[in-house]
Amino acid sequence: MTDMSAPPIELSVVVPCYNEEESLPRLVEVLTEQLSALTPHFEVILVDDGSRDRTLAMLREVHRTHPRFRYLSLSRNFGKESAMLAGLSHARGENVAIMDADLQHPPSLLATMLPLLASGEYSQVVARRTRTNDPVVRTALSRLYYKLMNRLVEVDLQDGVGDFRVLDRRAVRALLTLGETNRFSKGLFAWIGFPTAVVDYENVSRESGATKWRMRDLFNYGIDGVVSFNYRPLRMSIWLGILVTLVAVGYALWVLVDAIRYGNSVPGYVTTICAVTALGGVQLIVLGVIGEYLGRIYAETKQRPLFLLKESSESGVPVTTALG
Ligand code: UDP
Ligand code: MG
Repeated sequence: MTDMSAPPIELSVVVPCYNEEESLPRLVEVLTEQLSALTPHFEVILVDDGSRDRTLAMLREVHRTHPRFRYLSLSRNFGKESAMLAGLSHARGENVAIMDADLQHPPSLLATMLPLLASGEYSQVVARRTRTNDPVVRTALSRLYYKLMNRLVEVDLQDGVGDFRVLDRRAVRALLTLGETNRFSKGLFAWIGFPTAVVDYENVSRESGATKWRMRDLFNYGIDGVVSFNYRPLRMSIWLGILVTLVAVGYALWVLVDAIRYGNSVPGYVTTICAVTALGGVQLIVLGVIGEYLGRIYAETKQRPLFLLKESSESGVPVTTALG
């Protein structure tokens, strides 16, 4: 239902919002100012990811006072990946930017990013955060993670590169064809390929509200990253199994030789316990790895939509569209 008389939208900005009542007023203010300077033909798509605070009420109000700000509201908290996808699938702009609601992704950077897209040379322009004021441990851990990841997966992932980026229509269309349930967007963005430019920016702290990430989430995110992009961990389990078997056989031979040649008695229960626990551990790890993949296959076979809409600025009432 696009209005044919309206001029085409040049830029859509998708912002996932989960419990962002504190960030929203400032976000709207900054975006209005920065985006109008870039183009008169922009739209912002605020996606309420099943917030439990006043976010949705505020989005309704924002849309009323600023018609260029549209909103979608998901039926529950589906996670940032789904919220971004919902926004992307409803974006009408020729180019689509994605950014966080907490202004950790400075909108002013768009002024540098958009001309790169406009040059026609690139389909994606990604922003890379330079880690200047992150805790040392976190920086080191993240370096290590990317080192390992890039050895494990085929797509090239970069440290500091997150979801803050601008895509042209071609890249958006490509992303929307990837219908997988387990969405590791960092990998998906890299997977679709197309010429990509990188723009650096200084790390900014969250202006208000609190981050929704905990250490456990980061750990799970790490596993997702590896498992959703290849089956190398399965292959590694085989190697681990072979290694443990070899060690066990070697040890058994050594004990045998020790007993026959030197007549040493074998300390029975210690070796048994060691063997049982070591093997038990390895088996659990391998089972876990298999389980990760099995779980993903299970999730994918169900073909559930990746999000459900409860309300949007266009309908104001419940809608039923969703991306399969
Ligand atoms: N977010 C979301 N759904 C969630 C969690 C987060 O839409 O389940 C949004 C959140 O509102 C914000 C962005 O994702 O706009 C990044 O979240 P946050 O700032 O908490 O993460 P961090 O910046 O610490 O990585
Ligand atoms: Mg943030």
